[in-house]
Amino acid sequence: MTEPLRAVKGMNDILPPESARWEWFEHKVRALMRRYAYANVRTPIVEPTALFVRGLGEVTDIVEREMYSFEDAMNGDRLTLRPENTAGVVRAMTEHSFLRDGGKRLYYIGPMFRHERPQKGRYRQFHQVGAEALGYAGPDVDAELILMGRALWRDLGLVEGRDVALELNSLGQAAERALHRTALITHFQAHADRLDEDARRRLHSNPLRILDSKNPAMQPIIEAAPKLIDFLGAESLAHFGGVRAALDAVGLAYRINPRLVRGLDYYNLTVFEWVTDRLGAQSAICAGGRYDTLIGQLGGKPAPAVGWGMGMERVLLLLQEAGIEVPPQPPSVYAVVPGPAAAAAALRFCETLRAAGVSVLMHAAGEASWGSMKTQFRRADASGARYALVFGEDELARGEVACKSLRDPSAPQRALPLESAAEWASELLA
Ligand code: ATP
Ligand code: MG
Repeated sequence: MTEPLRAVKGMNDILPPESARWEWFEHKVRALMRRYAYANVRTPIVEPTALFVRGLGEVTDIVEREMYSFEDAMNGDRLTLRPENTAGVVRAMTEHSFLRDGGKRLYYIGPMFRHERPQKGRYRQFHQVGAEALGYAGPDVDAELILMGRALWRDLGLVEGRDVALELNSLGQAAERALHRTALITHFQAHADRLDEDARRRLHSNPLRILDSKNPAMQPIIEAAPKLIDFLGAESLAHFGGVRAALDAVGLAYRINPRLVRGLDYYNLTVFEWVTDRLGAQSAICAGGRYDTLIGQLGGKPAPAVGWGMGMERVLLLLQEAGIEVPPQPPSVYAVVPGPAAAAAALRFCETLRAAGVSVLMHAAGEASWGSMKTQFRRADASGARYALVFGEDELARGEVACKSLRDPSAPQRALPLESAAEWASELLA
């Protein structure tokens, strides 16, 4: 026998009823984006490998070991399945000169790919919602993006302080980071015997990333390391102050985390993370920051920008952990169709209901037969529908359809004239 084929490790099928939770979540996201006037952008899932190497920086987890890169066998192009989508959005904006007439506020929803060790909350194909504001320099838009996170948590039923919390930091500008970097290298060199292999490798290439290490043995020397915030000049501090003032103005609590440095090279000034303690090590559910140099670095006309990415699997897991149920969306009506003789009349009635906006699940012929009335009623019950419509022979002969409530056993059965589908639909939708 041939082995059945399986999905790629770390890449999940999202099937009903789980997919309904995704749709509900996506619906909340799209409604949020409308309220904040962010427009949808859809870029390719495959990009030239060079985009990520140039955009993310060579000494990053993603570029060093997480990218799905391959050669296009047709023409030898070096391609990569996108591990994140900020670089792709920036490429698209540049390619289409989109910032010519001013800033743009954009969002996307879609799959990302990283070759990581699969575990709860960490997958090889995962999905992100992302929001990017390009062409804006001020701290007001940083705060706006952070507040969109808060608004979404509220829409989903998550509670700040209990389920999610905001961490904030400023990475300053390149010159300030260079001063800090020198001090960091000096500090870590003085404790070289206590660095792990990753840290030793990064000591000269990307010492800031050592601060992000999760190795418990290194925590004491990381705690004692010089803090970037102490190297920031007046302008960077003023920008950071602006973000904080805006958050304070609307009562959003945050913790300043001087060790929050983010995994990617392109960030400057504001960085933030929405974290949860309900998901173990996969604590970051939404992460973002300012990337004022990236657009120029990718060959565009330099422009400031800021954005975030949110892990959808992690948010959905968090909802589960927090006991937040997604309201089920059963059909309103299940149409019981005894056999082919009733099919045409049933279809006409149901199409009228559907055209009016009623959700109708019609019984369909199986492989062997139409199914007994008993089976059909069992399916009708299981569907969660409010009403069963029975297109029985006797009813049809009278020009009617029988309507039974599946939720209220005491409600009397009604006979609806076959021409009354539209009126009954308005009654249902009222
Ligand atoms: P982590 O530290 O957990 O690896 P990260 O810093 O690599 O996260 P980002 O690149 O900032 O993550 O991506 C933004 C968000 O995408 C994360 O906060 C997280 O919610 C989600 N995410 C990142 N990698 C994965 C993954 N492999 N599986 C599921 N979600 C992920
Ligand atoms: Mg990661």
